[in-house]
Amino acid sequence: MTDKRFATAINCMDGRVQIPVIEWLKRQYGVDYVDMITEPGPERLLAERKDRRSIESIGKRLELSVTRHNSKLVAIVGHHDCAGNPADKETQPKQILAAIRTVQSWFSDIEVIGFRIGENWEVQKAVT
Ligand SMILES: [Zn+2]
Repeated sequence: MTDKRFATAINCMDGRVQIPVIEWLKRQYGVDYVDMITEPGPERLLAERKDRRSIESIGKRLELSVTRHNSKLVAIVGHHDCAGNPADKETQPKQILAAIRTVQSWFSDIEVIGFRIGENWEVQKAVT
């Protein structure tokens, strides 16, 4: 166990969205580190709940982050021009919202947030 504060991001594997997500979460929430769980278009996976193996794998990694790193905050991130999720920018927030519900159903006592990364690789308004 460490005394550093962790948050967790369920993020795309896309190299363009790693640093923006880490920096935003550190700045907004004052955490020291961000555990990164990556899949191609994870918001779609968690919204559709069809790919059992991927869902279980995300769940296992998230459990480690929550129990071993004491993470109290999980961010689900979707982004512009995602190779893993062809959804348009109207559909993507709905998927992020459904993904939040999925993750919140696993862990009721942690905060689950969602946001989208836009065309300029900036964090856009939170999805609620
Ligand atoms: Zn992506």
